[in-house]
Amino acid sequence: MSFTIQNVLIPDGESYKTVNVQIQDDRILAIAPNLEVIGTAIEGSHQLLLPGFVNAHTHSSEMWQRGIIPPTPLELWIAELYKFTPLDPAQAYLSAVGTAVETLMTGGTCVVDHLVLIPGQELETIAAAERAYRSVGIRAFIAPLIQDKALSAGIPTGGDEVKHSEDVPTTQAVLDLVQTAVEQFHRPDEGIEIMVAPTGIQLCSDALFAGCIELSDRYDLNRHAHLLETKAQQLLAQEKYGCSAVQHLKEIGFLSPRTSLAHCVWLDDREIEILAETRSTVVHNPLSNLRLGSGIAPILKYRQAGVNVSFGCDGSASNDSQDLLEAIKIGSILHNVTDFDYQYWITPRQAVDMASLGGATGLNRADQFGTLEVGKKADLVLYDLKSLSLLPRTDPIGLLVLGRPVNVVSYAWVNGKQVISDHEICNVSVNDLKEKLFEQSQWSPKRKSAAISKTEARYRSVMGLSERLS
Ligand SMILES: [Zn+2]
Repeated sequence: MSFTIQNVLIPDGESYKTVNVQIQDDRILAIAPNLEVIGTAIEGSHQLLLPGFVNAHTHSSEMWQRGIIPPTPLELWIAELYKFTPLDPAQAYLSAVGTAVETLMTGGTCVVDHLVLIPGQELETIAAAERAYRSVGIRAFIAPLIQDKALSAGIPTGGDEVKHSEDVPTTQAVLDLVQTAVEQFHRPDEGIEIMVAPTGIQLCSDALFAGCIELSDRYDLNRHAHLLETKAQQLLAQEKYGCSAVQHLKEIGFLSPRTSLAHCVWLDDREIEILAETRSTVVHNPLSNLRLGSGIAPILKYRQAGVNVSFGCDGSASNDSQDLLEAIKIGSILHNVTDFDYQYWITPRQAVDMASLGGATGLNRADQFGTLEVGKKADLVLYDLKSLSLLPRTDPIGLLVLGRPVNVVSYAWVNGKQVISDHEICNVSVNDLKEKLFEQSQWSPKRKSAAISKTEARYRSVMGLSERLS
């Protein structure tokens, strides 16, 4: 199977040039002006070609709860999230399809799904997500979200004796599950990979981290976790380890060039150095951090320290969409208000590189995808430069990142296979998806649960907030 994209605009240094791009099977065969057409011809004039972006951190099943959780910090928000999490793998399938579709329609060709597992149907959840990603055709890194501590252990004790639920799986059972998932679903050649993905230091024992490291080494798997998303987690790390979370993760050997860490909001300078030394990747989720009031990650400091940074949407209950272009926009301009030296501000071209090559680097695949280069995988996206939101003609990448692009992705390919054609998703019916999402949900703006109030008093006391609850 081969095809040729003709007369297409690509970035060239600080400028652009018009080329033909030949693709053979799953790879880019040649890029040059006036190349002959091999296979099918795709007319690329008035379009911009970029390598696909990576949605480097999300939780697909949160789609079922987007728009509904009230404005609360993570530690309270998550109690509400878990209370209403979908319990049917058929729902997990639909939300994974939805996540893949929204990612593709906003320039992503790869998704990292830190997948919340349905208790008692863990493998069925992974199977549902895998089937969804295969049917849409997006490249997927499925990262089963695992933990071996009760949710309440994620809040610092503040020195008090706190009793946690004992209704949690054993460390060994969790590791066995990941191993089975690897054996059943890890197929790198087919664009589906399993990652080891402890949820984070707040809910995982050292034994669980050690088991993940062992599986990562044995099966050649990437590693993923949340890291210091909130101030509370920074306090918790000191309580648990007597040192910083990053220092501890380094000591137990979790950090590496194949480790990507979501959020990284509350790191100090020494911790930033450690991420640079270990060549770990930071996944920036700016919208989630704003939505949950987690803080602003020191992204410009990471970049100056030489830490690789990529972008994620995070789950749809803390964003509340999977618009990767929006995450890239906010994630790059957000820092202009925290760092006054504008010479370090993220330019649109840098943002595009972070989203593509930065994403691939964080998945230890910079040699495979993330740039427009001969020999690389054909994970490619065409943007329609005649879309109203990308007009008039100024700087296409500048407008793509800083503007508000609407339905601008005209064609996309993953592994050389077409996934979007003429602005439409190719391999699944989006109308069918919309019907099912509509039918299987209901308006519930006044949904109430006791989940938040149960945790609230302790949270407020540990965080030094006044006792009065209105
Ligand atoms: Zn997350």
